[in-house]
Amino acid sequence: MDTDVLIAGAGPTGLTVANELRLAGAAAVVVDKLPRGSDLSKAGGVQSRTQEAFDQRGLLEPLLATGEHPAGLAHFGGIHLPLTRDRHRFPWRSIPQVVVERFLEEHLAGQGIHVRRDHELTGLEQDTDGVTASFADGTAIRARYLVAADGGRSTVRSLLRAGFPGQAGTSTVIAADLRLGGAEQTMIHRWNDEGDWAHLFPLGTDPQGRPLLRLAMGGPGRARPRDVPITEDEIRDGLRAVFGLEVQLLELRYARRITNAARQAAQYRHGRVFLAGDAAHVHLPLGAQGMNTGIQDALNLGWKLGAAVRGHAADGLLDSYHAERHPVGAAVLRNVQAQSLLMDWEGTRAPEVTATRELFTALAQLPQVQYQLDDMLSGMGIRYALPGVEGQPLAGLPAPDLDLDLDPGPARVNELLRSGRGLLLDPAGVFAKVAGLWSGRVDRVVGGTEPMLVRPDGYVGWAGGADSTGDGLEAAFGRWFGEPR
Ligand SMILES: Cc1cc2nc3c(=O)[nH]c(=O)nc-3n(C[C@H](O)[C@H](O)[C@H](O)COP(=O)(O)OP(=O)(O)OC[C@H]3O[C@@H](n4cnc5c(N)ncnc54)[C@H](O)[C@@H]3O)c2cc1C
Repeated sequence: MDTDVLIAGAGPTGLTVANELRLAGAAAVVVDKLPRGSDLSKAGGVQSRTQEAFDQRGLLEPLLATGEHPAGLAHFGGIHLPLTRDRHRFPWRSIPQVVVERFLEEHLAGQGIHVRRDHELTGLEQDTDGVTASFADGTAIRARYLVAADGGRSTVRSLLRAGFPGQAGTSTVIAADLRLGGAEQTMIHRWNDEGDWAHLFPLGTDPQGRPLLRLAMGGPGRARPRDVPITEDEIRDGLRAVFGLEVQLLELRYARRITNAARQAAQYRHGRVFLAGDAAHVHLPLGAQGMNTGIQDALNLGWKLGAAVRGHAADGLLDSYHAERHPVGAAVLRNVQAQSLLMDWEGTRAPEVTATRELFTALAQLPQVQYQLDDMLSGMGIRYALPGVEGQPLAGLPAPDLDLDLDPGPARVNELLRSGRGLLLDPAGVFAKVAGLWSGRVDRVVGGTEPMLVRPDGYVGWAGGADSTGDGLEAAFGRWFGEPR
């Protein structure tokens, strides 16, 4: 073997998997076909759950320190959700994907993992022991596992002939990063009576400190094939249709046409190959979910592959990646389709669409509706249906970031997860013996309000309740951390 895990693709998904493997003590090689990091601006926002996960790796503070990253306003299909603004400790933030990628790549380089660029994967074979990938330059790498993080047009997915069912793109709209005169620097979603629409949100500032905005816009008759170049006049025309003379284009930095294709891999695992991020799911970028879902796929997969490489993955641990993440991806595709209908993405001007949007806008004034939508978009509402812990209120949810008063000094749960190991909160100090059987894979602290076993990805794998005598705890240790020592 040349390495334990080969990661195809140095986007946010691949880079995150590499960091998780490093923490788990597995060797990883990351390859990318591009000669250098992309400066294409794609994702503009990092959701609460992703920030929480970065905090659990000690990466959030340095990421936020890379520039000005204003907190944004959540929306669902263009309908504002203002009541959700201060709900989470880490509110949705405008952090461009290029910043996230550069940050993660530099962080990995600092740990000795350098992305191998100009490495286009073109061939793939797997057998019972490993995977051999070949590259356009005639070289090959053999690894025990391969993570396909090679994006929406994944070569690995094609080589596997993996099912990628869903809906083909039927239409396009323009997404652009620009500077505008006369526009408020806040989230705006506006339609005109003809069905033209524009969606704007702040993207922080350019190097000169001038405010940048992300624009998406469409309308009847405005769709063009993806490869038709976008002109400034086309953008001016679309802006004028919605804002009149109120808004002027000052600078166009980047523009592309995006389609409403919505597809998801039927299986995330193919033997020793795992699909993650856009390689596993593609959809419109509504509600800032694609990159976030990919990063969260990576966090779910990384520690499990690490355990497999280190030889202590229980049966079924690697399969739990598909079982846990496929439903999350499917839910994202569904909510994006609902949002594209509410936004009248294709500019149909159908009265049914207008009526649905009016009704939904009224419903979205209810706090409970806003909270539910926010849970969905922010990733904070994700709950894995874990086996063996049914009926435990916290199991399958992100662990609460409790302040713990520990013997050497105070610490937060998120800080304790930075080791990449699991964590047992043992408030009564009664589970030392069982935890000792998994020492080195799980840390135990005497603290918290109720006993809880937290997986390395920050999800609660077992929570017995305040008076628990440890029913099911040993089985949960075995499920997530393998055979005892
Ligand atoms: C306009 C727009 C706005 C968006 N806004 C948001 C947002 O606000 N929030 C959000 O969460 N998401 C957003 N997204 C979605 C987000 O950009 C993607 O979900 C994200 O890029 C997926 O990351 P990834 O690492 O899985 O794949 P990618 O970022 O596509 O990375 C794949 C990498 O694999 C490499 N690669 C491809 N083929 C090969 C090969 N054969 N061999 C080697 N390397 C290969 C590529 O060069 C690339 O570097 C947006 C997307 C667009 C287009």
